[in-house]
Amino acid sequence: MTVNAFGAYAGDQPLQALTISRRPVAAHDVQIDIAFCGVCHSDLHQVRAEWAGTLFPCVPGHEIVGRVSAIGSDVSAFKVGDLVGVGCIVDSCRTCEDCDEGLENYCDTMIGTYNSPTPDAPGHTLGGYSEKIVVSERYVLRVSHSEAQLAAVAPLLCAGITTWSPLRHWNVGPGKKVGIVGIGGLGHMGVKLAHALGAHVVAFTTSESKRKDALALGADEVVVSRNEDEMRAHRKSFDFILNTVAAPHPLDAFLALLKRDGAMTLVGAPSTPHPSPNVFSLIMKRRALAGSLIGGIPETQEMLDFCAKHNIVSDIELIRADEINAAYERMLKGDVKYRFVIDNASLSADA
Ligand code: NAP
Ligand code: ZN
Ligand code: ZN
Repeated sequence: MTVNAFGAYAGDQPLQALTISRRPVAAHDVQIDIAFCGVCHSDLHQVRAEWAGTLFPCVPGHEIVGRVSAIGSDVSAFKVGDLVGVGCIVDSCRTCEDCDEGLENYCDTMIGTYNSPTPDAPGHTLGGYSEKIVVSERYVLRVSHSEAQLAAVAPLLCAGITTWSPLRHWNVGPGKKVGIVGIGGLGHMGVKLAHALGAHVVAFTTSESKRKDALALGADEVVVSRNEDEMRAHRKSFDFILNTVAAPHPLDAFLALLKRDGAMTLVGAPSTPHPSPNVFSLIMKRRALAGSLIGGIPETQEMLDFCAKHNIVSDIELIRADEINAAYERMLKGDVKYRFVIDNASLSADA
């Protein structure tokens, strides 16, 4: 099947309209008519070849929501018409310890929604900036939000789970003081989720203009991280800090805010390294510095169900697919509140 998509043929070229093929629906496959796809900063890193190993043509997009339009003969968990989502993972080995534990995100042969090897043409996976996708049912998520919320649900499939997984792993909840660094797509979801989990949430931003908004998102306090006095006031007070910043920056300033045994987890993935933290920032208070990669399929479902129950969605700006190059430029300037989402109807021939 041939479908319309948006992607790039090289890292230094803008994204453009192209057509791609999707495999026939096999026994365990679900075919999804994609309604909306969120725009993650990882899409930009990958399609512009800022990270190593980009395979072209590259069709990004791993915050996919839509309706099931066909199912394979052995699919029982989904039916045609269901609202569903697909995040960053479309396959994995299914047999290793990580897969067994529902942490497919750490499987050594995890197949990403784009830029991973596949027997399907053109030999690597192609993502959600497209009209349809065919995915094995094991990696398809149920969406129980209302249809009216669907566009704003899309970013939960990456920004939501990438913040939910570490917040849960590091036991964020009532009585914990939690910092979220970088109030972009991931960070604004981190604020919403940490607040809903009952923590005392402090948002760290470099943008004075986000000070008020961050309170509205659910932060109890906001710190403009360029202001040293504001930073100093929070020294040695945090249980946990989630750092979502997409660019290299000195980590010591944030490590100094952790109390004894506190941890900072990095989820931001800049293409060039952060300046090394001073080892004394860690050893003096037995602090930990960690990383976390998206989340597994069961915890993604748990997060979606939690968000539906607590009426949590992303704050979005809806765009047409042909506005994606301009949207990337705005994302680089921090000029998005807080996630661009593509209306995939704009890909159809008569849009
Ligand atoms: P985003 O929407 O662009 O947000 C990043 C935020 O970081 C910006 O809004 C800005 O927030 C802050 N920031 C940007 N440049 C900065 C700088 N030079 N110094 C300090 N702060 C800066 O990006 P995103 O989609 O949330 O993604 C964030 C990062 O996470 C990307 O690197 C992405 O690839 C990565 N990621 C990782 C995973 C994972 O599994 N680990 C999953 C998804 C994405 P303020 O204006 O508030 O300062
Ligand atoms: Zn992402
Ligand atoms: Zn595995």
